[in-house]
Amino acid sequence: MWMEGAGAEDAGHAVAGASRRRAQAVFLIVPTSRLPVVSSIMSDVDELNALIAAGRLLFDPPNGDLLRGELLGIPPARPVHARVRTLVVALCGKVPGKKIRIASLIRNDKKHHGEARAVDVGNEEIARDLLPLVATQAEVDRLHIDELIFDAALVGESNRNKFNFRGGKPHKYDDATLADHRNHIHWSVRA
Ligand SMILES: [Zn+2]
Repeated sequence: MWMEGAGAEDAGHAVAGASRRRAQAVFLIVPTSRLPVVSSIMSDVDELNALIAAGRLLFDPPNGDLLRGELLGIPPARPVHARVRTLVVALCGKVPGKKIRIASLIRNDKKHHGEARAVDVGNEEIARDLLPLVATQAEVDRLHIDELIFDAALVGESNRNKFNFRGGKPHKYDDATLADHRNHIHWSVRA
């Protein structure tokens, strides 16, 4: 008789166990779909490809194919830092319906372009719409921005350093640096 009782009890445990397993499965699926680095890189590449296909993300000639390869990580191009991809996706997301043009990514210099963690946006006229949405401490922190350099006088600001950051903090660049950042917006991400 106790065998029957035990059997019934086992059946009860089996049902409870199945519920627990279902609960665990749901619990596990949610965080693993968000956390792995590989899938977030894939997702950024997918989003960049979609933006390119939609004509919203452009690359300056004559090295457009190289720039595209660097941004998407297509061999033999040297890939940019993953945070540059995330940044470019975020920038496009800030200005829906508008275009962003990449002028430069990796260059042979000793600064952030040489370290594959900088991007120059060539259509600087987007600054008026874009920079007020990105040049905030919260967004700079969220997107791991190190430097943001643009002469805000071009969009009518009396404070030429209004949008500028260095080391992830607001920064006043000198006149020579500002003069070099009137025909593009420079960004770099933390390593
Ligand atoms: Zn630059």
